[in-house]
Amino acid sequence: MFVVKDNCPNCGACKNVCPTNAIKFDKKAVINKDECIQCGVCAKACPIGIIINEQDTTEKVENKQHKKEE
Ligand code: SF4
Ligand code: SF4
Repeated sequence: MFVVKDNCPNCGACKNVCPTNAIKFDKKAVINKDECIQCGVCAKACPIGIIINEQDTTEKVENKQHKKEE
C-alpha cells in the first residue's frame, strides 16, 4: 500500500505519472486506494521520496542504521 507522507509540497510529479489517475490533491497528494494498482511509479517519480510502500518502512529505517559502523 503506497502512502504519501505529510510533508508533500504538491509538486504534481506523482499525479502526472500515475497510470490510473489515482492521485488527488488535498493539501498534499493523496492516493485513492480504490484506484491505485500498486505499480509504484509514483514513488519512483517523487523528487523527495515521500511516497512510501508501507510494508517497506521498517526495512528502509533498518538499512539506514546499518550504514558503516567502524
Ligand atoms: S502506485 Fe501506481 S497506481 Fe498507485 S498511485 Fe502510484 S502511480 Fe498511481
Ligand atoms: S511527487 Fe512527491 S512531492 Fe510531488 S506531489 Fe507527489 S508526493 Fe508530493
